[in-house]
Amino acid sequence: MNFKLQCRECKAIYEPEPKFVCERCLGPLEVVYDFKEVKFSVDVLKGRKKNMWRYSEVIPVRSVPEQFMDIGFTPLYKSSRLGKLIGLKEFYIKNDTLNPTGSFKDRPASVAIIKSLEFGFKAVGTSSTGNLAAAVAALSSRVGLSSFVLVPSNTELSKVAQAIAYGSNVLLVNGNYDELNFLTLQLAESGLYGLANVNLRPYYAEGSKTLAYEIVEQLDWSLPDKIIIPMASGALLYMIWKGLNELKELDLVENKDVALIGVQPQGCSPIVSAYKNGQNNPIISDCKTVAKSLAIGNPADGRYAIKVIRDSKGLAVDVTDEEIVNAMKLLAKYEGIFAEPAGAITIAALIKLVNNGIIKSDEQVICLVTGSGFKALEIFEEDVRRLRANPIEANLQVIESQIIR
Ligand SMILES: *Cc1c(COP(=O)(O)O)cnc(C)c1O
Ligand SMILES: [Zn+2]
Repeated sequence: MNFKLQCRECKAIYEPEPKFVCERCLGPLEVVYDFKEVKFSVDVLKGRKKNMWRYSEVIPVRSVPEQFMDIGFTPLYKSSRLGKLIGLKEFYIKNDTLNPTGSFKDRPASVAIIKSLEFGFKAVGTSSTGNLAAAVAALSSRVGLSSFVLVPSNTELSKVAQAIAYGSNVLLVNGNYDELNFLTLQLAESGLYGLANVNLRPYYAEGSKTLAYEIVEQLDWSLPDKIIIPMASGALLYMIWKGLNELKELDLVENKDVALIGVQPQGCSPIVSAYKNGQNNPIISDCKTVAKSLAIGNPADGRYAIKVIRDSKGLAVDVTDEEIVNAMKLLAKYEGIFAEPAGAITIAALIKLVNNGIIKSDEQVICLVTGSGFKALEIFEEDVRRLRANPIEANLQVIESQIIR
């Protein structure tokens, strides 16, 4: 195996086990590769399937089960209509709503599930704001592993419905994500279960990095100027940074800075607040936002997200719920992409930053759209209710009189 675990703080090295904290300093562990041993180049990709496993040399699994799912290699659209409306010449949308369970969480969850098989866990579990629950449920069912998911009781209907449908043991808990996460930390101590975001976290996180590899490949092995990324725990943003650095180390791209812009909703923005106040350890106690996937008050990778935002010469911004819902509608109306609030939040941030003059019209910008609108239909419940209250008569003349040309 060409990878090990390494402490992000003291750099101590460990063999790859189900392990996530450093014994010496309690820092988080992450996967590191021996890039002298890794044989990965543009050539090896020829003829490989267009999914995230095309980068298997830099994903820490022994092998991918036959007939696993086609996750990743989602489209990178060059936007014309929305880009024009916002005032950008080179604006791209990475549409990760198109993964099997409707969010980017299929990427990390799939690595966690495969590692659970490799480590011999009989069951895999996770705490989740909803999307990870759906992904863990689906992918464990796919390989015949039993799963349990802890979700806050206010999680959207469709996310809970997905986890139920996939046959997971759904534990709907009266508590917020941070409380649930603390419970899964304690569950990990028995060593009986694989927990996606606890004892499997170093492996799990590597799945998200494939987004960076894909973007760079889809841009014909060049780097964009800026990437706008939603933040909950901060893991996705950190892993985009890690992926970009690996690509530089592998000599697959030029060595230029890509500014990483992290976004949070104003009602739950511990990372953005800490960034703005020059602090390093984000934590808040209360979260209230329409972007429920992002409602984490005590973000596990918060301090590292702040560090890499600074190192990349990026920025952290927050947007209001109103700006988020407006962005959802614009993205759907101008690009035909239906995203949940946590996915459209990057569009809201882009609009804000272009209006502030922080992003210039000739910059090459990418927005990650991480989750599908089908996961938060509640947003449009009122609109549908209004239509249902007054259905139109099934009469041609009445119908014609109502059509807007
Ligand atoms: C989980 C999630 C995020 C953020 O992920 P973190 O890695 O926790 O920062 C963003 N968007 C969606 C839709 C998510 O489900
Ligand atoms: Zn350490």
